[in-house]
Amino acid sequence: MTDGEPTGPVDVGQVVEAYRLHVNAGVARLHTFMGAEAVEWRAEGSTIWDSEGREYLDLLAGFGTLALGHRPPAVVDAVKAQLDLMPLASRVLFSKPAADLAADLAEILPGGLAKCFFCHSGAEAVEGALKLARMHTGRPGLVAAQGGYHGKTLGALSVSGREVYRAPFEPLLPGVRHVPFGDAEALREAVDEHVAAVILEPIQGEAGVIVPPDGYLAAAREACDRAGALLILDEVQTGFGRTGSMFACEQSGVAPDIICLAKALGGGVMPMGAFASTPEIWAALEENPYLHSSTLGGNPLACAAGVAALREIRSLDLPARAGKLGSHAMDRLAAAAARHPDLIKEVRGRGLLIGVQFSDSDTAGLVIAGLLQRGVIAAYTLNNPDVIRIEPALTIPERDLDRGLDAFAEAVEQVAAMIAGL
Ligand code: PLP
Repeated sequence: MTDGEPTGPVDVGQVVEAYRLHVNAGVARLHTFMGAEAVEWRAEGSTIWDSEGREYLDLLAGFGTLALGHRPPAVVDAVKAQLDLMPLASRVLFSKPAADLAADLAEILPGGLAKCFFCHSGAEAVEGALKLARMHTGRPGLVAAQGGYHGKTLGALSVSGREVYRAPFEPLLPGVRHVPFGDAEALREAVDEHVAAVILEPIQGEAGVIVPPDGYLAAAREACDRAGALLILDEVQTGFGRTGSMFACEQSGVAPDIICLAKALGGGVMPMGAFASTPEIWAALEENPYLHSSTLGGNPLACAAGVAALREIRSLDLPARAGKLGSHAMDRLAAAAARHPDLIKEVRGRGLLIGVQFSDSDTAGLVIAGLLQRGVIAAYTLNNPDVIRIEPALTIPERDLDRGLDAFAEAVEQVAAMIAGL
């Protein structure tokens, strides 16, 4: 960390104590244990400064939310302009930012997904997608992948695949079957005439960045078509350029019936989510448009952010940039891994969604702490704590990415030396 001028009059101990007493003592414990006893204060691009003026390089980008980095000027300006006009909607008159964003999405989404609903988060997008699939097909069943992550509301959790998050809330939705991700045969067997939808991430993010074998999504598409089920692709994390194309499914030439979006859609400034489908499937929601609704979903501020974010992602051609920087980062990480095959099992991913698989979660945790000591922010994947994700802004300057990768290599060396000395 580089020391600098203090940026804010903050009593760090008081903030940590307020977390402990009023937010979540477990969060306070975890952050403190990882050496993150600091209060973030301001941010720009891929840099965060804490209240003591220390600088951090952000390789996590809000779990993939900050495709454009922190406070991208074009999105901030659009939100400020909308703030001066009308931040929230009347919900009776038409709202231009929502109309504009819906039309812009229809232009870029694959497979004629021309209709969408706006919400605030990935989990909410998944809830809407599951409801729509059940309604359109009139079937109860859902097929999901082991290890998958779709959020933590009850419906989204029902199709997610990590036991530790699920068990305390069971029974979850009935009729959900989990199959091993990447196993086309298991998927084919599970999809029958009782299944409303198969829900998959094109590349599993929180499972530890798992890229399925070639042809897997095509096989899922075929299994759904054969059984009359819908294919829901959850691109909450992979969408908007992160994996090297605007949507990850485009790399497989497969279009879903319903797509779930969030994270980068809000331009890193507003919370924003959406699910979208074809007009034919959407008809189920149009007879009674209040079957699925949200008071604040699709508000003008969030939609203005979305319109500006899409414009930026397209005009800067960030999908291509993610592909190029991602290959560079994977090569460098693979070199670091080759020096310590006992500690690092694999480096994998696409574009700037990269996972480094460690031998165990303790080693991964030590490397994350070592990164933080060097002023670099990274985290493990939620459904697999053995894996550190490298998921920076798609706009990260190359020299900053290299600085982060240098720190990663150093942190691995430090942990290897520590383990050797035990
Ligand atoms: N779907 C995927 C693929 C995700 O990666 C996530 C979050 O990481 C979600 C859904 C849930 O999104 P949120 O945390 O915004 O509810």
